[in-house]
Formats: sequence, C-alpha cells, structure tokens
Amino acid sequence: MVGVVPIDALEARAYRIPTDAPEADGTLEWEATTLVVVTAGAGNVRGTGYSFADAGAVGVANRTLAAEILGENAMDVPRLWDRMRRRVRNMGSGGIAAGAVSAVDTALWDLKAGLVGLPLADLWGARRDAVPIYGSGGFTSYDDDRLAEQLAGWVSEDGCGRVKMKIGADRRDAERRMTRAKEAIGEEARLMIDANGACTPREALAIAEIADGLGVDWFEEPVTSDDLEGLAFVRGGLPGAVDCAAGEYVYGPHDARRMLEARAVDCLQLDATRCLGYTGFLQAAALAEAFAIPISAHTAPALHLPVCRAAPGLRHIEWFHDHVRIEAMLFEGAPVPRDGAIAASTAAGHGLTFKTKDAERFAL
Ligand SMILES: [Mg+2]
Repeated sequence: MVGVVPIDALEARAYRIPTDAPEADGTLEWEATTLVVVTAGAGNVRGTGYSFADAGAVGVANRTLAAEILGENAMDVPRLWDRMRRRVRNMGSGGIAAGAVSAVDTALWDLKAGLVGLPLADLWGARRDAVPIYGSGGFTSYDDDRLAEQLAGWVSEDGCGRVKMKIGADRRDAERRMTRAKEAIGEEARLMIDANGACTPREALAIAEIADGLGVDWFEEPVTSDDLEGLAFVRGGLPGAVDCAAGEYVYGPHDARRMLEARAVDCLQLDATRCLGYTGFLQAAALAEAFAIPISAHTAPALHLPVCRAAPGLRHIEWFHDHVRIEAMLFEGAPVPRDGAIAASTAAGHGLTFKTKDAERFAL
C-alpha cells in the first residue's frame, strides 16, 4: 500500500525540431515539429508525458493545470483528469488545452507507474505483448523516388505488412503516386492512403475507385473530419474492401462518441497526445468497442505502445516518420521495430526517458 503521495513538481517545456526534409500532406506544409514535454514529480520519482502540440500548451500546463495538480495525490490520476477537464472549460477543452491535458495525464500515469514500480501495461492489465505497426509518411512534398524508397524501406527493413502515404485531391496525381508506391512495396504489402481532409466527398469516391484497384484498403480523412455527415457519406460509397478511417482530431470521449454515432468510420483513430492522454484513450477505446469498431493509434508510437498493449479492439500503431525520428533522437528506451511490430519493455512506466541535454538545442 503506497497511500497518499503528494505531487511536488509539474513543469512543461516546448521544443521545435526541424524535419529532415520539407513535408506536406493534402492540406498543409511544415518544416518543423513542436514537442511539448511535461515532467511531473513526487519525491525523487519523475514521470514524463508529451504531446506534439502547439507551444501554447506549455502556458496552459504551467499556469493553469499545475495549480490543480500540485499537492494532490499521485495515485489518483482519474481524479486529477476530472479536475483538469473542469479547469479548461472556459478556454475550450479541445485543441491546445487538450494537448496540455494529454501531456500532463501521460506524465501522471508514468509517475504513478514509477512510484509502484510497474510497466504501465501491467498497471492497467495487458491484452498483448507486442503491437503491429504500419510505416507512415509518403509526404506529397516527396518526389516519386523518395516516396517509393521510404515506403519500400518499411516493408523490407522493418517487416511492416502495411504502409501509408499522403495524397491530395488531384486524382491523376494520386493515381501516379499510388501506382509507383504499390510497385515499390510489392504484392504482399498493403497500401493505405491519407488525404488529411483534402477532398470533397465525390472527389474522394473517385480516388477510392482507383485506389481499390491498387489494393488500397484504408482511406483516412477522405474529407475533413469536421464533416461527420460527409465522412459517413464517403464511408457508405467506398468499395467493399476499403475502410474509412479518422479520429486524429478526437479531443476526448465526447468527440469519439459523436464520430461513432455518426457511423463515420470503419476504424477509429485515437491519439493519446490529443484525446486527453492515456485516460482519454482508454475511455474512447471502450466506447469504440461498444460500437464494434476497431481502433488504431495515431502517431507518437513510443508513447502509444503501453496503452495499445492494454486497449481493446486494437489494430495497429502508426509508425509515423516525423515522430519516430524525434522519439529515437530524444527518448531513451524508444522502441525498435521487429517483424512489423514493437514490443513490451520491462521498465517501469512507459519506459521512456527524455534526453534533456540532447533536447536543449531545440528548446523554445
Ligand atoms: Mg492522418
């Protein structure tokens, strides 16, 4: 029995890490990724959480959430999650606030697991030891050679059975790039596509027909996921073998419920760095299970590994190029793929240690 363990430290910091090449998808271009890291402490035990959120989340965590957390019992993570959600009510609970709550929640779970000396998946109770990954990148800013090389690498080097590329609304361009990608990954591997909301519903259906002919079985955010009716329309019109996926902008259980009730997706994507941390991820996963809809973790694979070992209905984790690179560079203990999966660590918590000194040059 550990009893009451007061939290005596909570601090957030932001880092801006340049990408290894200009990156773009169907609706956005970027040259850097912002990482918000939260450290929570009780005595000499530390927990770490993070979100790939806007740097504004640092202020929310340090000024607003810390006041709700400091002095409270580190054992009672759900109680603190309730308090944080109430506290951000008036600023809007999604977006930047959700990034902050998510990073603090994951830090608090890592802290609690550290205090009791258990891997997080053992604290929650695991359903699986290893979790399948799919390679994800294939940016629209890449030329066709770079696209082919990156996707083929995940298949031949990491053993991924599936890989995902970005597409835009231009049907002919998408067809050329998908054809090249399919040639590169070979017969066995499956190609997935993500439009990041670039298409109208009819543009999406036209692309889906071509994609289906190339064996594509996953079409992510064909239209903006703000338009749940549009997503549901596309889902209804997709060729039988093509799943409609979305959920990266689910900012908690209520958003998940709305997407599920709209029958908008065949697979619900969840992101613990946005959907209110591990607590929100597990709640949304339970909702999806009740709708008989599988889930898939969106990006940040190292952070997702423990919660994906415990969650019901899990298909896979997105092995996203940007975040894989950052997690390998800045976190001791980041997982390495084997045979298309990442596996359990025996370390307490999520098993990741932030390399503060290495990160200093990226600090904002
Ligand atoms: Mg996406």
